[in-house]
Amino acid sequence: MTSGTPSPTDAKASKGLPPGMVMGPDGKPCKICTAFRNWKPAAPSGQKQKTNRNAAIAGTMATLAYGASSDSPPDPPSRPDNCPPDVEQLGRATWTFLHTTAAYYPDKPSPTQRANMLNLLHSLPILYPCSWCALHLGQEMKVHPPDVSNRVRLSRWLCERHNDVNVRLGKEVFDCAKTDERWKDGPPD
Ligand code: FAD
Repeated sequence: MTSGTPSPTDAKASKGLPPGMVMGPDGKPCKICTAFRNWKPAAPSGQKQKTNRNAAIAGTMATLAYGASSDSPPDPPSRPDNCPPDVEQLGRATWTFLHTTAAYYPDKPSPTQRANMLNLLHSLPILYPCSWCALHLGQEMKVHPPDVSNRVRLSRWLCERHNDVNVRLGKEVFDCAKTDERWKDGPPD
């Protein structure tokens, strides 16, 4: 993380929040910055048992959102399709969109296509709902401005920005020579 930048843990106001909840740069809990498995709330003490239907539904939703606690049923095998995304689901969907869009970007883009791609990329640090993700992306984009000159260069640039995140999250670095194979052509026969 860049020095001088606050971190989710620096900003954490611990009382009454799930221990894994990520705090946003504004110091407030940031659900869309947090993976579902980290939403598990602190166990309520002496809480009256919920009996009505709405409370039962709320309990189920909390289990789905926060994961199982010692006094709740285990996680279902999968989350319902209509659950809002967490930081990981949103990330996978966004990377899929961005890498695929780059894979089909023209080899010789027109000035309008370049301008539109730049607009799309520059809007991410402003609009991306995970505020930490947006902040870091904006910092990286200042150091490494987008290269929209052609398909190969854009795909490379995007791969490198994705690798910035991979490194920050302790994930494996992706081999950018395999970007087309992953996002356009598929594996060789
Ligand atoms: P993902 O990282 O989502 O990758 C999806 C697929 O892309 C992989 O399965 C792989 O086949 C392929 N891939 C992986 N790396 C590359 C690459 N370099 N180039 C091309 N293809 C690749 N999460 C956080 O917790 N904190 C953050 O600060 C954060 N910042 C983000 C910033 C942005 C702009 C975006 C779009 C997402 C961010 N995320 C962040 C989410 C994070 O990057 C992952 O999407 C999420 O953790 C799910 O990871 P995953 O392992 O399922 O695969």
